[in-house]
Amino acid sequence: MKKLPPFKNEAYQDFSKKPVAAKLQAAIRKVRASFGREYALIIGGERLRSDQKLESRNPSDKKELIGIFQKATPEQGRQAVEVAHRAFQTWRYEPAEKRAERLLNVGKLMRQRRNELVAWCILEAGKTWAEADADVSEAIDFTEYYSRQALRLGGPQKTQPFPGEKPELRYIPLGVVVVIPPWNFPCAILCGMTFAALVSGNTVVLKPSSDTPGIGAQVADILVEAGFPEGVFNFVPGSGATVGNAMVEHPLTRMIAFTGSKEVGLDIVDRAAKVQPGQIWIKRVIAEMGGKNATIIDESADLDAAVPGTVAAAFGYQGQKCSAGSRIVVHQKLYDQFVEKFVPKVKALKVGPAADPTSNVGPVISQGAFDSIMSYIEIGKGEGKLLTGGEGDSSYGYYIQPTTFADVDPHARIAQEEIFGPVTAVMRAKNFDHALEIANCTEYGLTGAVFSANRKHLEKAREQFFCGNLYLNRKCTGALVGVHPFGGFNMSGTDSKAGGSDYLLLFTQAKAITERITKAAKRK
Ligand code: NAD
Repeated sequence: MKKLPPFKNEAYQDFSKKPVAAKLQAAIRKVRASFGREYALIIGGERLRSDQKLESRNPSDKKELIGIFQKATPEQGRQAVEVAHRAFQTWRYEPAEKRAERLLNVGKLMRQRRNELVAWCILEAGKTWAEADADVSEAIDFTEYYSRQALRLGGPQKTQPFPGEKPELRYIPLGVVVVIPPWNFPCAILCGMTFAALVSGNTVVLKPSSDTPGIGAQVADILVEAGFPEGVFNFVPGSGATVGNAMVEHPLTRMIAFTGSKEVGLDIVDRAAKVQPGQIWIKRVIAEMGGKNATIIDESADLDAAVPGTVAAAFGYQGQKCSAGSRIVVHQKLYDQFVEKFVPKVKALKVGPAADPTSNVGPVISQGAFDSIMSYIEIGKGEGKLLTGGEGDSSYGYYIQPTTFADVDPHARIAQEEIFGPVTAVMRAKNFDHALEIANCTEYGLTGAVFSANRKHLEKAREQFFCGNLYLNRKCTGALVGVHPFGGFNMSGTDSKAGGSDYLLLFTQAKAITERITKAAKRK
């Protein structure tokens, strides 16, 4: 294999250029023309059906049926795990170089179909153009970054030398990994967990989110085309509570790579901990979960940077990012000034269909999400002062106005619970220490940001702001593969640091091998 150049993040597309925008418009038309198709499960290379179906609809316009997907039965889920277990018996010995070559091939195919994948994220997940492009770019980054990491970890690793012995350490794969992603990064997170598992030598059963199975089906086709052998990758859409549980509980499942809500993550940890008859290992679980991320605006903050940063973090992808800035903690001296500048910027955001390039805020993902967010807005009306938004319309798509509550108590429900929608809470801090105390006072610990010109405060935040991804003088969203390894503390999850150099280690186990140097063995 040729030596790879150093990893570089995929550049975003500039849709302000007419020819670039025209290409995406064409891709949106192409994907729309495919609406309504039925997609199969893929188990052991076979395309299978189930009696029960799952409909995926465009959240920007719910009468648009994106596609019909199989709702796999628990039996089909178990079958997929067994097929993947059989495929593992040979795939486990595939050299790291070959696995990396296949993943790089996936990256090539994704680049060729980039705009189609972007269009899928717009139409099925309700992402605005730039958000959808960033989602697909991140997925491509994972192909490049994890291939390089797999090559680094492949083959014998050196240990401390010892006289008379030849010691080494090898990272070997684990077995069947059940991958369970959320809908909010329907391409990037789904790909990140799947690619990490495959390139480390594991086999995968992927259960996409029921809200975005179409994007999963596109990735599944690419993996098949890139030459992953039958059974090494399996695609099993269906309900989390039925087929998801069946696969989590299967004794041949070796690992579960999950990203999603705290409730489901904790349930998976619980189920995976119970040893099933015939099971001969402790299941490994990665569970990356929710957030309630705070941005601190210090007394010395530059509001020209802090205001756009907090607006983007709170309302980018309608606040449906685990890293979303759902709490803004402002030093009392700057509070009124901040609010004065923040409110018009939020009111200027245009809410509309994600496929319309002039929309800044698209729909939320589903009726369930709409109802839950609207009920939090009602709670918020009793807990804070409504400054922007507060209204929603689900008559044709799931639209909610960007909503800001001010003067919120740090222990109020809207300041403690993950709302996962376009709602943010502004809070007043007496001083920087008080701001840090507020920032750290939830059960989560995913991302955080501080805007300050005070060096001492920035250094204090490095030490005392307790979150997995801390950003100083920039927004708390927008982690880049390789640059900002991503994962949170406390109830935000297992801190697996996706897109970091240690991530693939979680998908392997280390085998230490030592050979005593003998004359007889030397001769051969
Ligand atoms: P969710 O927990 O509802 O679903 C996540 C996945 O789990 C889906 O594929 C779903 O079908 C599946 N599932 C549901 N019940 C299951 C069960 N009983 N057994 C097995 N699988 C089951 O979460 P969501 O609504 O898809 O995603 C939003 C959540 O994800 C938010 O809380 C967000 O903060 C979190 N998130 C976290 C990160 C991170 O890196 N920490 C990244 C993105 C999203």
